Amino acid sequence: MTQIRQDLFTGNMVIMASGRVRRPSDFRNIEKKKDVLEIREDCVFCPGNEEEVPAEVERIEREGLWRVRSVPNKYPILDNNCKDECMYDLHSCIKGGGFHEVVIDTYRHNGNFFNMDIQEFFDYLSILESRYNSLKNKENVEYITIFKNYLREAGASLEHPHSQILTIPLIPPNIAKEIDKAKIFFDENGICLHKYVMDYERRMDKRIIHESGSFMVMAPYASLYSNEVVIIYKYDKRFENISIDEIEELSMILNKLFTRMYNFLGDFPFNMYFHTDPINIEKSNFYRWHIHITPKKGTMGGFETSTGICVNSIRPEEVASALRWL
Ligand SMILES: [Zn+2]
Ligand SMILES: [Zn+2]
Repeated sequence: MTQIRQDLFTGNMVIMASGRVRRPSDFRNIEKKKDVLEIREDCVFCPGNEEEVPAEVERIEREGLWRVRSVPNKYPILDNNCKDECMYDLHSCIKGGGFHEVVIDTYRHNGNFFNMDIQEFFDYLSILESRYNSLKNKENVEYITIFKNYLREAGASLEHPHSQILTIPLIPPNIAKEIDKAKIFFDENGICLHKYVMDYERRMDKRIIHESGSFMVMAPYASLYSNEVVIIYKYDKRFENISIDEIEELSMILNKLFTRMYNFLGDFPFNMYFHTDPINIEKSNFYRWHIHITPKKGTMGGFETSTGICVNSIRPEEVASALRWL
């Protein structure tokens, strides 16, 4: 049976066509990780080669050695060379550039989200929070995006585990769309859409993977990608104000979640990205920051490209039941 579902937060449409694969485990066609050295002499992100990348902006050390650090991206998506708004007869370009940093997730070349321990996730999240708060004070920042590409199929160009943090001089369309939808819902119903969905999912008890004091982990009802997961922060507070206790809580969640995903899917390519509140607008009480984890398999086919409707062959209910923990 197929079913067309629509996402409340984006309006995106997806066809659930679970008959197109036999079982959820059919996704597991990716080899498990091969042995990789902890430190590689020829890797620019490994300890010992710090001089080969632009000068570091921040690090976290333990026992006199850096564990995680952030450096300017040598090949930035946005730089600060475009200072003027350009108007042509027909087209235009928007003023303002951005600051783009690479966060080296761990000093271990063979580290990855599937084998990082809670302490490593804690250091990783701590530097993200710190860089976010620092970049917020730069010029022309309307939004800060944090994302990670894991493996080449998901857009990673270097093997050493890393993430990216980038300022943008505007509110990106995907964020604007989510906030607009949440605002309309709030105006019509007087309740935060994220809160409403979390309450609903608790009652349904089909798509929640885990819930802790400050976070809910779930397989979204209209997941665009097979095995997609979202982690929602439950309260009305900005990402940059996350407490140390909450960083610890989130570290435990990421450690457990990725271990369970590895057992279910093997070593799979994925994107992980944060959706946070725009910098210069007052914190709204109708939007909660959250993290998307979207496994990548295959590319958009003709159907998806031409219609804008995705096809997902694994139901989120099956994903939640495979990954759930108490
Ligand atoms: Zn390395
Ligand atoms: Zn989102």
